[in-house]
Amino acid sequence: MSKVKYYYDPDTLSYRKIEPKKSRKYRNIFLFIAASAIFGFLGLMILLNTDLFNTPRELSLAREVKNYELQFELINRKLEQMEQVLANIEDRDNNIYRLYFEANPIPPEQRRAGFGGVNRYKSLEGFNNSEMIIATAKRVDIIQKQMAIQSKSLDEVTKLAAEKEKLLAAIPAIQPIRNEELTRMASGYGWRSDPFTKARKMHWGMDFTAPKGTPIYASGDGKVIRADNNSSGYGKHIRIDHGYGYMTLYGHLSRYNVKKWQRVKRGDLIGFVGSTGRSEAPHLHYEVWKDDERINPINFYYGSLTAEEFENMLKFANQENQSLD
Ligand SMILES: [Zn+2]
Repeated sequence: MSKVKYYYDPDTLSYRKIEPKKSRKYRNIFLFIAASAIFGFLGLMILLNTDLFNTPRELSLAREVKNYELQFELINRKLEQMEQVLANIEDRDNNIYRLYFEANPIPPEQRRAGFGGVNRYKSLEGFNNSEMIIATAKRVDIIQKQMAIQSKSLDEVTKLAAEKEKLLAAIPAIQPIRNEELTRMASGYGWRSDPFTKARKMHWGMDFTAPKGTPIYASGDGKVIRADNNSSGYGKHIRIDHGYGYMTLYGHLSRYNVKKWQRVKRGDLIGFVGSTGRSEAPHLHYEVWKDDERINPINFYYGSLTAEEFENMLKFANQENQSLD
């Protein structure tokens, strides 16, 4: 209700009512409606943006969604840590384990490859938080695949390690006669004068002088492929196949302690020193074969000799003396 206003009329000396103009009246009405509309609209906006408008159930769901989002964030932080640890394991795998066992490193593209082809995350699309959920799912999938590849690689390394262990056990690595039972290392591998003809002749093994009956030990793991007297010159002799192309031969024995096809371990007693065959005096003639070639046995005693003993043996073995054959 607008107030009634008066003005003083000096002509009539009386107060007269001011009649509002029609236009002004309409303007006031318009202003009132406009102001109501604006305030109403603002009020509604405020209501919509506060919890007053939501039911308790909606409120609790909204809180739950917020909680999920927070948890996803935490999970992603943990995934990041897992990725770092895994990257470290992969690095060691490629640069230490696989390198040591001479296996090719696994390239990073192969380790970190995602999944091509069909969209595996279609069902996760179309939600407010789809981006976050799909990113997390992808991350987990890649980690899972990385772990499978890593696990397979370690299986391979384990197999290689077992093979290497077998190889190391098989390679002839000890002196076939114990140092304390050895009279002397009589003759090495190389050109020596023949004890019978006195001619210069290649001596394909090493001669260890020891009394008749001194124990002889297998220098590596393997299988006895011969224990007989049917090879001219060697007398009673034993041949052990070690695999990986290695074979050792022990000649001029007085007695055997093994039979053909018997499996032996490094250090097993296989026979006794004698002087059978083409031999001048009781001694063990020892040969190391690699891929059907006789090689110098001197390079295979690292398993049993001290540096000093090895030095000594080297001195004797390199003397160009007469072999015992
Ligand atoms: Zn010899």
